[in-house]
Amino acid sequence: MKKNITIVGGGIAGLTTAIALNKAGFSTTIFEAASEIKAVGAGLALAANAMKAFQKIGIAEDVIAEGRILPAFLLLDQQGKQLAKTNSEALSKKYGVDNFTIHRADLHRVLLSKLDPTTVHSNKRIVDIVTQGEKTLLTFQDGSMHEAEVLVAADGIHSPIRKKLLPNSKERYAGYTCWRAIIDNTKLQITESSETWGNSGRFGIVPLAHNKIYWFACINAKAQDEKMKAYRVADLLEHFKDFHVPIPQILQETKDEHLLWNDINDLQPIHQLAFGNIVLIGDAGHATTPNMGQGACQAIEDAIVLADELSKTNDVAAAFKAFENRRIQRVHRIVNTSWTFGKIAHIENPWLISARNFLFRHIPASINEKQVQVVYDVDF
Ligand SMILES: Cc1cc2nc3c(=O)[nH]c(=O)nc-3n(C[C@H](O)[C@H](O)[C@H](O)COP(=O)(O)OP(=O)(O)OC[C@H]3O[C@@H](n4cnc5c(N)ncnc54)[C@H](O)[C@@H]3O)c2cc1C
Repeated sequence: MKKNITIVGGGIAGLTTAIALNKAGFSTTIFEAASEIKAVGAGLALAANAMKAFQKIGIAEDVIAEGRILPAFLLLDQQGKQLAKTNSEALSKKYGVDNFTIHRADLHRVLLSKLDPTTVHSNKRIVDIVTQGEKTLLTFQDGSMHEAEVLVAADGIHSPIRKKLLPNSKERYAGYTCWRAIIDNTKLQITESSETWGNSGRFGIVPLAHNKIYWFACINAKAQDEKMKAYRVADLLEHFKDFHVPIPQILQETKDEHLLWNDINDLQPIHQLAFGNIVLIGDAGHATTPNMGQGACQAIEDAIVLADELSKTNDVAAAFKAFENRRIQRVHRIVNTSWTFGKIAHIENPWLISARNFLFRHIPASINEKQVQVVYDVDF
């Protein structure tokens, strides 16, 4: 009989992995710290690699029904002049799937609907793990315990499981802080997805389904800056007032209670994901800055590769090692490239901004497309 697999964390990584494992014939038990399994955050762009993964486990149609296809992405300067355009339509045709945007809450709802609710336990915060031979004893905050034969840690960037296994792993502050919101698109009628690199920050616009837009704004700041923490829509409007249309208009349509704020962090690349019968997936193993929109996509890829490797052998530790071998280079590449993108996007020296913008305007589209292709090329 196939082993039951314990998953800690009911985020995108944990839920997608449970679906993939169930499809491969494994039973799963999810433990989630929050009192309710729901998405934290605003919108999400899912690239074709994630959509291919969803196809693989038979849920792409349900996810697509809740979101919006995204055929192109524009990179603009502060005046709204085009720096680059990534037309993913041609590539998407080649790969058979498109880029896509979705409200996080809608994605979570679809993922949860694919799981047996009796296997998903909320209000279960892990506070400690102790390995006992091949098994792992989990201790929860409420004092209860659970013995896991196989443990998948999908407990996010601050993963207590990773911290126990790799006490020296480091979260890094990227140097910029971020506000996000989802607002109504009825008045604005925005149809294009874009990111604007200005002189004092950047602003992203992502149309969603159901007549909504997701926007994000990032500004260079020190970590957990009290001034930034106190920012409201009026402060953002002042900060971005010289940015092109429709950025000030989007902010005018936003209410303070829509705002979500957090510093941008990632996990300094770690070189081990497999620890005997324990494996780290998603942000727990490779949290990245959001500059390539690939954090959740990589978590979704993890789910497919993990189920694939576990299906090939009864030796769990060997399957987890094979997972690590297949994943580590790819996720490091994403983390490092995304970190560099962030640094380039947040340049504030006017001379360097001019040089960067000149360069971006003259990069041939084929180079952009090659970059996209590397991300789309999955090994499943
Ligand atoms: C501003 C921003 C924008 C982004 N945009 C995109 C994008 O457009 N596209 C994209 O692909 N990615 C994007 N990402 C990245 C994406 O959000 C993450 O990579 C993804 O959500 C990671 O999923 P996860 O399940 O690994 O972790 P999480 O979503 O963090 O889930 C971890 C889960 O574990 C639970 N947990 C934590 N500790 C415990 C514990 N002790 N016991 C039990 N449960 C626990 C948490 O409550 C949570 O539910 C963005 C990130 C940010 C910050």
